Amino acid sequence: MNLICCALLAMAQTPTPARPVLIRGALVVDGSGGPSRVADVRIAGGTVRQIGRLSVSSGDSVVDARGLVLAPGFIDTHSHHDRGLAKERTALGAVSQGITTIVVGQDGWSNFPLADWFAQMEQRPAAVNVASYVGHGRLRDVIMGDDFKRQATPAEVRHMAALLEGEMAAGALGLSSGLEYDPGIYSTTDELVALARVAARHGGRYISHVRSEDRHFWAAIDELIAIGRRAGLPVQLSHAKLAMRSVWGRVDSLIGILNRARASGVPVTLDIYPYTYWQSTLTVLFPERNFQDTAAARFALTEVTTPDSAILGDFEPDTTLAGKSIAEISALRHTEPAVTLMDLIAEAGKPKPGGGSYDESVVAVSMVQPDIDRLWRWPFANVSSDGALNGAHPRGFGAFPRFYRMAVRERHLLSLAEAVRRMTSLAAANVGITNRGRIAPGMFADLVLLDTAALADRATPREPHVTATGVRVVWVNGVVVYNGAVTGAFPGRVIRRR
Ligand SMILES: [Zn+2]
Repeated sequence: MNLICCALLAMAQTPTPARPVLIRGALVVDGSGGPSRVADVRIAGGTVRQIGRLSVSSGDSVVDARGLVLAPGFIDTHSHHDRGLAKERTALGAVSQGITTIVVGQDGWSNFPLADWFAQMEQRPAAVNVASYVGHGRLRDVIMGDDFKRQATPAEVRHMAALLEGEMAAGALGLSSGLEYDPGIYSTTDELVALARVAARHGGRYISHVRSEDRHFWAAIDELIAIGRRAGLPVQLSHAKLAMRSVWGRVDSLIGILNRARASGVPVTLDIYPYTYWQSTLTVLFPERNFQDTAAARFALTEVTTPDSAILGDFEPDTTLAGKSIAEISALRHTEPAVTLMDLIAEAGKPKPGGGSYDESVVAVSMVQPDIDRLWRWPFANVSSDGALNGAHPRGFGAFPRFYRMAVRERHLLSLAEAVRRMTSLAAANVGITNRGRIAPGMFADLVLLDTAALADRATPREPHVTATGVRVVWVNGVVVYNGAVTGAFPGRVIRRR
């Protein structure tokens, strides 16, 4: 293995290889889910050129990959790794877990206008490729501003549709929504259908953080499918989860609903991350926006999560509370957990000196592993991270290696080839990306060389920024961006809808 490492280190010193690269002797898992085979792969000019038993040509730079797995780079269909990406273009959290493409503009929020952001990303590219949805909440914000706590008028919906036309023309993959958050939470299904129809006309898709992942979960799934049916476009359930005690174990009901929708002509798919805990805002625990209702707070801390397992990620009004659970803060303050939760929201909701609003986030356990296991086995479920470069949740550094470790090596739920398909070609298909996600001649050379015996996450809620093990080399468009450390190469491209 030392020889391989040295060869790889040498490669890293030429971040833009003018020469073709011959990766020799890896077990090639091509992303299709089909049989794997030991083969040589030649890449040149940013694409895969040849696969098979290849001999070394005089111009080749050779990587000895015997004993390792070569897979397509992972495509993260629900990512927040664009936050801070302009400053940290090496994108350590993403590339160190094998991610080569991040799909952003999620949960209803996107850069606006996308044409400008895409131009910036082309002037100063990152290590990873980027693609984006158009955030419904962002459109709402542009048109309605602070006056968003209501239905949009027909004229406002028309204005949003006009903006969306421009964003789709710029190359967005489709429309995203975040219906548990402001301002999307105040929209009607009709408003979403009107906008999804615009995305559909452009050949785009709809992806959604649905209206409820707990109390009103079934109605939220019905709404997702209704939008797909009425607007006539593929729909993707973002970070699928059954996130409340009373819906735990009902995963087969969910899969039944999704399968029936597919059979009736709505191409519904989902992405999922491999954790029983989420990261969001404290306010997301109050879908009725009754932040000072003690009964609602008690319900949130018994049915949706628990005081022990809800840990503040950051809390700008009092940064000493970051990393503490609601139970710990409750003990410090001598207030019951529900009151503590309401107080924290009130403190974060106060006007910030100098303007703006305070940042706060919480990481909270709401799911159970058997439900996640069952969703992994649904053939239309791809893996996403929902992670960020500097997030409080370990998914920003560990999601993909953790999925492999748990689903393949430890729990034997999926084969290696099928697990790779969930992270690559299926992910690409579920968001409408072509020419990536498989190892085949003509495909872009987004590749990851893995030591699957060592492939594992190390990031935890207490230490969320620890890199994974087992990811040896990552190529983006044929250029090495990671080989145990970031290389400082920025070959990432903007991926526009085709
Ligand atoms: Zn979300």
